[in-house]
Amino acid sequence: MEISAIKCKKCGDIIFSRARHDFHSCSCESIYIDGGFDYCRMAGAPTNIESCKIQLDITKEELFDDWNNGNDKYGLIKDTVLVGWKGTNVFES
Ligand SMILES: [Zn+2]
Repeated sequence: MEISAIKCKKCGDIIFSRARHDFHSCSCESIYIDGGFDYCRMAGAPTNIESCKIQLDITKEELFDDWNNGNDKYGLIKDTVLVGWKGTNVFES
């Protein structure tokens, strides 16, 4: 599925919100994202934010469970290398 994400221009992390109440930041805490798939809310200096779309072979339910169970395998991608995930591609628009 395609996911709307944002990239931090300072640290290079790509972050996305996995569920409505999944609010988290990038590594350097310059930008934040929230809202899951219902609405996308971002915070931080607009100059640090770059919107992108990523393609993940995963369902909304799996992402929700990842957040809900505190596994935190997804939601933060470092230097466009997916953390804790394999065999998928990251596409920046
Ligand atoms: Zn950052």
